[in-house]
Amino acid sequence: TREATLELGRMPPARVSFDPPAPGERVNGAIVVLVRNSELHGLRSSMRMFEDRFNRRYKYPYVLLNDEPFTEEFRDGIAAITTNEVRFGVLNSTMWGYSPGVTAAAAQAKLEENKGRYLYGGSLSYRFMCRFQSGMFFNHPLVRDLDWYWRLEPDVKYFCDIDYDPFVYMRDKGLKYGFTIAPRENGKTVETLWFHTREWIKANQQLLPDRSLANWVMGTDGHYNMCHFWSNFEIVDLSLYRSEAYASYFEHLDRTGGFFYERWGDAPVHSIAAALLLNKSQIHWFEDIGYEHPGNMHCPRDEAMHSRCICDADRSYTYRSACQSRFAKVSNMRRDRLLELIGQS
Ligand code: GDP
Ligand code: MN
Repeated sequence: TREATLELGRMPPARVSFDPPAPGERVNGAIVVLVRNSELHGLRSSMRMFEDRFNRRYKYPYVLLNDEPFTEEFRDGIAAITTNEVRFGVLNSTMWGYSPGVTAAAAQAKLEENKGRYLYGGSLSYRFMCRFQSGMFFNHPLVRDLDWYWRLEPDVKYFCDIDYDPFVYMRDKGLKYGFTIAPRENGKTVETLWFHTREWIKANQQLLPDRSLANWVMGTDGHYNMCHFWSNFEIVDLSLYRSEAYASYFEHLDRTGGFFYERWGDAPVHSIAAALLLNKSQIHWFEDIGYEHPGNMHCPRDEAMHSRCICDADRSYTYRSACQSRFAKVSNMRRDRLLELIGQS
């Protein structure tokens, strides 16, 4: 009826507010998103689920970054999704640019060559994005004062209630890197990544810990097995990326031009670094966090999660992923064994 319609039209927007956790019960962290103005609706969708499942109770701020200024429409559309703080930042041309020694013309020639070979093969902006996510984001003015970050992207899904603070959980357990999905990379995008990684290891042995999870990414043949943590979800103690070893590794890779001449993703770069620089007790699979990014889905199969999730565990990619079961099986490798194996390959 007409009256009912008018009644609905008068409904105020729902705004449920929760008390934030006590200080000391949280970390100096934020939800960090790199996003384009054109992805407003995809990000609103991700944030709606993320808020409902976790963040309207835990109240971490959002840091949204863009290589172009955010439009007013974008800011308003995002502000309407959350009562939490949102900080908007723009990237400069150092953070969103070519690697040293790489010219626009040389990059363009390689994009032409690779455009039909794999997804984003011909995309220059995708190269800038991967380079930024690999070596720059953690030093951005809006990120550099944070100790922790949780990466979020447009068009992802969160299926389960998260009734605790994963940041605090990681901090208290001495964890440095958290992930949900571990697929295999398309080898064509990283043809020389392992060669250059090996060169870096040989020249920087003193930067490596005595034990690491190196054999999660490397077979006994000394080659890269394409396993990586899908970095569209990652919760990381940023001291990992700000370490001397990581900086040295990134600079080494950056100087080779491979971010442009090939299509090195930040996921394999982050993952290889985590595996070389951390040990197993510092890396955590968040099996309880149901999550989907276009392409792959994780849904917890634990019966106890059924009342808290809206996904089908039988369709979960993660229980079929070879890299995921390798992660469950492998143990730490000693540095001298790592050097022996890469020396042979
Ligand atoms: P995929 O996940 O590898 O398929 O790549 P996406 O297109 O999802 O990009 C990864 C992340 O970087 C997403 O959060 C995107 O919004 C963001 N992104 C990718 N390209 C650009 C770009 O050119 N500009 C900006 N501002 N963000 C980008
Ligand atoms: Mn994505």
